[in-house]
Amino acid sequence: MTTTIRGTVVRILLLSGLGIATVSRPALGQVASPSSLSVHWEELTAADFREGIRRSQGTCLLPFGIMEKHGPHLPLGTDLMNARYAALHAAGREYAVVFPEYYFGQIAEARHEPGTISYSRDLQLALLQETTDEMARNGCKKIVIVNGHGGNEWLLPYFAQTQLEKPHDYVVYIFDKRSPATGGPPQKSSILNWHAGEDETSKMLIARPDTVHLDRAANESGADQHRQNLPEDVYTGIWWYARWPNHYSGEGGLATEELGKFQMDWWVNAVVDVIRAVKADDVSLKLQNEFYEKSQHPLETQP
Ligand SMILES: [Zn+2]
Repeated sequence: MTTTIRGTVVRILLLSGLGIATVSRPALGQVASPSSLSVHWEELTAADFREGIRRSQGTCLLPFGIMEKHGPHLPLGTDLMNARYAALHAAGREYAVVFPEYYFGQIAEARHEPGTISYSRDLQLALLQETTDEMARNGCKKIVIVNGHGGNEWLLPYFAQTQLEKPHDYVVYIFDKRSPATGGPPQKSSILNWHAGEDETSKMLIARPDTVHLDRAANESGADQHRQNLPEDVYTGIWWYARWPNHYSGEGGLATEELGKFQMDWWVNAVVDVIRAVKADDVSLKLQNEFYEKSQHPLETQP
């Protein structure tokens, strides 16, 4: 919280629920600063929402989580909390309107674990389409899906590809990276660290440390159990369960705040860069429109 003297804005950072809210109050005799707009869709009044869309140049974020087990030590909403933390902090730096909590993705592989919410394939796609359609109807002509859940890695590009089926007056952008490939504090994991392991647990030590139970992280094995014998390039839906039946890959107990801060800072910075690039993108919608028009009469399309 920073409080400045008379004549300037008093800004309070509220750490509430899943993210931050920036609330500015005018000092005595002052008019509210326009910078006081919240980035949270659900916190804006209707009139402020209009201003938010104007300020964001129609750029909106859809942080995408999931409800699934995260080892023995992390909460079910881990991906939602981490993705919202990154998206909300990024939007606070480069203004964008952030859609409310969304966790209706692909997670069939964890249906055997308590607390998993696994909607049907058709509903996942229909709900996402109606959500982005509704966002666009409200002025979000550039929608950035900030993905927090590894199990969405094929759903989301497929969703984006199917936007070409018929005309839309908006563009869907997918950002699906949560950690840098290299750099940062050396990692200690001796086994694959793909789900609720050192990386993800470290990020939760930044996003929601109050929900992390490091002392329980070794209660189950997060080791690869190699229970399928197929060539590497052959895919089955049961592959994940075959390797990590506890829905835990890694050693969450190795998590550190230092690693979490490095990775979360990277994620926030990366989303800021994405928002800026998307705001500057005046090509994708034009190409989409050109494509839709040509797709009406493919025989006339010039080579
Ligand atoms: Zn996760």
